[in-house]
Amino acid sequence: MNFLQYITDNYWNLNSTIITLVTIGLITVITIVGYGLERRITSKTPVYIRLIFHTLEGIVLTMSMIILQQTFHLLNNDSIHNGWLYANAQLTILLYAMYLIRNKITLLINLLMPFFYHQSSNLQRLDNSKLPYFIISYIFLVAIVVYIYKDTDSLKDSIKKYLAVQVIYGLAWWILLWVDHSFPFYQVPNMLLVFIIYMAIVRYCERKMQLTLNGYDNLRVEVNYDELTGVRNRFSLDRNTKDIYETYSHEKNVPLTMAMFDIDHFKNFNDKFGHATGDNVLRHVANIMERELFLKKTQGQIFRYGGEEFIIIFRGKTADECIPIVADLRNTLFNSPLFLNGQQLNVNVSFGVFTLKESDKNFSDLFNRVDSYLYKSKNAGRNKMTVENETLNFDDFKNSI
Ligand code: GH3
Ligand code: MG
Ligand code: MG
Repeated sequence: MNFLQYITDNYWNLNSTIITLVTIGLITVITIVGYGLERRITSKTPVYIRLIFHTLEGIVLTMSMIILQQTFHLLNNDSIHNGWLYANAQLTILLYAMYLIRNKITLLINLLMPFFYHQSSNLQRLDNSKLPYFIISYIFLVAIVVYIYKDTDSLKDSIKKYLAVQVIYGLAWWILLWVDHSFPFYQVPNMLLVFIIYMAIVRYCERKMQLTLNGYDNLRVEVNYDELTGVRNRFSLDRNTKDIYETYSHEKNVPLTMAMFDIDHFKNFNDKFGHATGDNVLRHVANIMERELFLKKTQGQIFRYGGEEFIIIFRGKTADECIPIVADLRNTLFNSPLFLNGQQLNVNVSFGVFTLKESDKNFSDLFNRVDSYLYKSKNAGRNKMTVENETLNFDDFKNSI
């Protein structure tokens, strides 16, 4: 028998190719599901939602193991020929799920697998001579799986640790399999090597896939946020306005207030100090407003509408409730001049504020009203706010909140 024949008979043939392709397909599904669900979980996600997500991930993992098993049995007419490849494919998926989906269900599946992977997996199969091997390997397996569960992040960044974990995980498993199947022991390191190659390929593919998925996330940030100031942009406002209008126009008891402001004589900053200084003024204003909205727990959301015009949406607040907030925003800005190249730049703004009324047929009605109020403030000499058609001076609201 020549070498090629030996390889195709024992290691690589059509069946092995199919198993490998199925494994890669399952890894892709686990990545998309796992990554998709995990990124939706934040510190605020309720426990029951987490449980649903984790159960779903557990189901996907279990289904993957079953699909792999069925494929293997189908291809091999239930014979154990090529079993090494099948076992390595299962181990790869199990270990990979530990890295990607870090939850107690994946942990449990990994810990219980040595008792379920084989039909004859009752403990009586272990004669006395092999029992110690089983116990020691299983202890190693538990230790390494718990370690991965606790330390996933540092593992992902260190190739050495990643490799060490694979060797221990693979070795523990292949000794467990050797206990069961009694193949020559010298096969264990061979199998371990194949497992490590498998995991290396998986790590490579996973990195590529995560980069692509992260790329989509970044794209979403770029699309919705203003590049210059970092606050939400006009596109984001337009996308939200329809939903906001639908919600608040039907909720009679929950008000919605919009505030629009424009920097006074902004053109002067550009003309006197240059466009770059103008940009700095815009960043300064956006940062202060966003910070104040957050620090004072106002629940206001700021958008850069365009140029030096910004919009703040206050959900659940009336115009009256917004007056002290808007005055405070302006007063903070007024008391925080921008120091640039030895110059002190004082920035003033004019506001228009209005609450959504039943008579507003759509968001544009609200918007046009706010816009006209803003220009009322401008016409009244700037540095003022016009709320529900009444123009007010900010100085009357010092230390109002
Ligand atoms: P008013 O008090 O009436 O609002 O006067 P103003 O000078 O602020 O308003 P005007 O609309 O005349 O000028 C706005 C200027 O803002 C014109 C435009 O060149 C400038 N601008 C718009 N976008 C940017 C930007 O991103 N960066 C800089 N530096 N300037 C911008
Ligand atoms: Mg202006
Ligand atoms: Mg303007």
